[in-house]
Amino acid sequence: MKIAILSRNANLYSTRRLIEACEARGHEVKVIDVLRCYMNITSNNPQIHYKGEILEGFDAVIPRIGASVTFYGTAVLRQFEMMGVYPLNESVAISRSRDKLRSLQLLSRRGVGLPVTGFAHSPDDVDDLLATVGGAPVVIKLLEGTQGVGVVLAETHSAATSVIQAFNGLKANILVQEFIKEAKGADIRCFVVGGKVIASMKRQGQEGEFRSNLHQGGSASLIKITPEERATAIRAAAIMGLNVCGVDLLRSNHGPVVMEVNSSPGIEGIEGATGKDIASQIIAFIEKNAKPNNTKTRGK
Ligand code: ADP
Ligand code: GLU
Repeated sequence: MKIAILSRNANLYSTRRLIEACEARGHEVKVIDVLRCYMNITSNNPQIHYKGEILEGFDAVIPRIGASVTFYGTAVLRQFEMMGVYPLNESVAISRSRDKLRSLQLLSRRGVGLPVTGFAHSPDDVDDLLATVGGAPVVIKLLEGTQGVGVVLAETHSAATSVIQAFNGLKANILVQEFIKEAKGADIRCFVVGGKVIASMKRQGQEGEFRSNLHQGGSASLIKITPEERATAIRAAAIMGLNVCGVDLLRSNHGPVVMEVNSSPGIEGIEGATGKDIASQIIAFIEKNAKPNNTKTRGK
C-alpha cells in the first residue's frame, strides 16, 4: 500500500515508529507537512498539491495533527477523504475530540462515567457554580489548556472562588470539576485501536502533584485494567468515532471516569511502558480496513 503520514516532523518518535512499521510491512510511506499542502477546494476533481507536485495514489492517510494545527490539518485530511483515501481517524472525529466540552457533552449524553463537571465563562454567582458540582475541593481547568497547564486544584471554597475570579479576568472558558482524590495523582491511559484496548499504562504524578501528565514529571508503568475500565474506554472511542485514540481514565469511587479522549495519542510512552509494538498494530489495522471510500462521512 501507499500510506501518507500527516506530521510536521518526521523525527518525532511516533512518526518515526509509524514509518518503520510501514516499511517493515512492505508499504510505501511518505511524510507530509500539512501546512505545506495547498489545494483548489472548488474543483470537481479534488486534489492536493505539495511542493509543486500532485499527491496521488494513496490508499490510506495517518493523521498526526498537533492541537495547534487542528483547523488547517483537518481541512487537508478532509480533502484526502474527498479523494476517497482511507483515513485512520476521520476529520470529523478529530475536530470533535479537539473540543473538550463537546466531547464531554457527547460522552455524558451516552452515559459514560465522567467526573461531575461544570462549565462557565463569567459566572456572576460563583457560590452557586461551586454548589452545582458539589463544592470544594474542585479542579478548575482552562478549556484551552494542554499537557496539564492551566489545571488547578482548589482545596477550599475560598481558594476555588479566587481561582475562578482570576480566570474570569482572563475572559476564558473554564471547567470546574469534582476532585477525584481517590485517584491519588494517577490516571490510566488506554490505547484503543479498532474497538480494542491494545495496551494500557498507569501514569503517576510526582510526589505531591495531583496531575499525572508525563510533561509534569509523571512516570509511566504497567497496569492491569478491569473489565469495566476496558468497556468504558471502548465505548468512549466508539462514541467519539475514533479508530485509534488514547482514552484517559481516573479510578474514582463511583467507577472509572473519562478525563479525555486523545485522537493523536503519543506512542513513545505506551511502547516504553508495555514493550508492545503499537506502531505495527496500527498499520495492521490499516491493512484490514483501508478500502477506497471506506469512511462514515467522507468529511461531511
Ligand atoms: P490536560 O488535558 O491538560 O492534560 P487534564 O484535564 O487531563 O489536562 O488534567 C491533567 C491531569 O490532572 C490529569 O491527567 C489527572 O491526573 C489530573 N486531574 C485532572 N482532573 C482531575 C480531577 N477532576 N480529579 C483528580 N485529578 C484530576
Ligand atoms: N502530544 C500528543 C498529541 O498530539 C498526545 C500526547 C498524549 O498522548 O497524551 O496530542
